[in-house]
Amino acid sequence: MCRLVVQAFLVGIFLVFAASEALAQTPAPLPMTEVAEGVFVFAAPHELAAPANIDAIGNAGFVIGGEAVAVIDTGGSKQAGLALLAAIRARTDKPIRYVIDTHVHPDHLLGNAAFRLPGAVIVGHANLPEALAARADTYLSATRRLIGEGAFAGTEAVAPTLLVKDRLELDLGGRRLLLEAWPTAHTNTDLTVMDEETRTWFLGDLLFAGHVPALDGSLNGWLAVIGTLRSRQAARVVPGHGPAAMAWPGAADAMVRYLERLRDDLRSMIAQGRPLQEAVKEAAQSERGNWQLFDDFNVRNATSAYRELEWE
Ligand SMILES: [Zn+2]
Repeated sequence: MCRLVVQAFLVGIFLVFAASEALAQTPAPLPMTEVAEGVFVFAAPHELAAPANIDAIGNAGFVIGGEAVAVIDTGGSKQAGLALLAAIRARTDKPIRYVIDTHVHPDHLLGNAAFRLPGAVIVGHANLPEALAARADTYLSATRRLIGEGAFAGTEAVAPTLLVKDRLELDLGGRRLLLEAWPTAHTNTDLTVMDEETRTWFLGDLLFAGHVPALDGSLNGWLAVIGTLRSRQAARVVPGHGPAAMAWPGAADAMVRYLERLRDDLRSMIAQGRPLQEAVKEAAQSERGNWQLFDDFNVRNATSAYRELEWE
């Protein structure tokens, strides 16, 4: 009797572990919005990385072509990548041919670990392998600390092998994607992806909406690149943080206003000889009410921008 109880208990324990293991390996599919025919986007919450969100805090998407699928950004952990993969497999069994990283930030590419699949090529900006190599240890340890061991399991930094220096066209079978590498702006690894069939343009973190922009490249560079992007036409754009799709070029207005405010405030304080420590507390504070996560990023943005602008 007693032995039976113990056995039942052990079986129960096993089942709980088996279930949690299965859960860990196949997370629920990310909720996707079909923004145009065959173009799906996960609009991520505006949050910092945490166990509950498994670092699925950057927008991610995929495009289904005649023969194959392209993934655009993979989330910030292997679990996030697997949740995106589950969303793809709920819609098509076509092979994944390309996994495109829009830039180096961990919330956009640490999910690459879930896409080490036969025939799938990881694609990124020509600067990306070097930038990722320099930061991988920091990104991995920070992500592990923020989301916890369970959600972090299996996450690793997987660099692209197909690199874009300028432009590259990819074919999904009767459906082409145009990839373009940009000079230093949000980062020094920014890549955009245009689905030529629907004119849906994935801008990565060159476009923020709602979530305050995060500057990790060049403020002047970003404003220059966004000026070029705004002169182009698209049926819709997909921001790196924000809604699944937005109208172009109006989608950039709020972000440009924030970046220009930051630049103009800092320029005038630098001209007055105000030290960095003071300036970064005041710069762009008039924008505070317009953005989520403002206090998490604005001082860092201002610090980076001050160092750039003081050399003008
Ligand atoms: Zn980013």
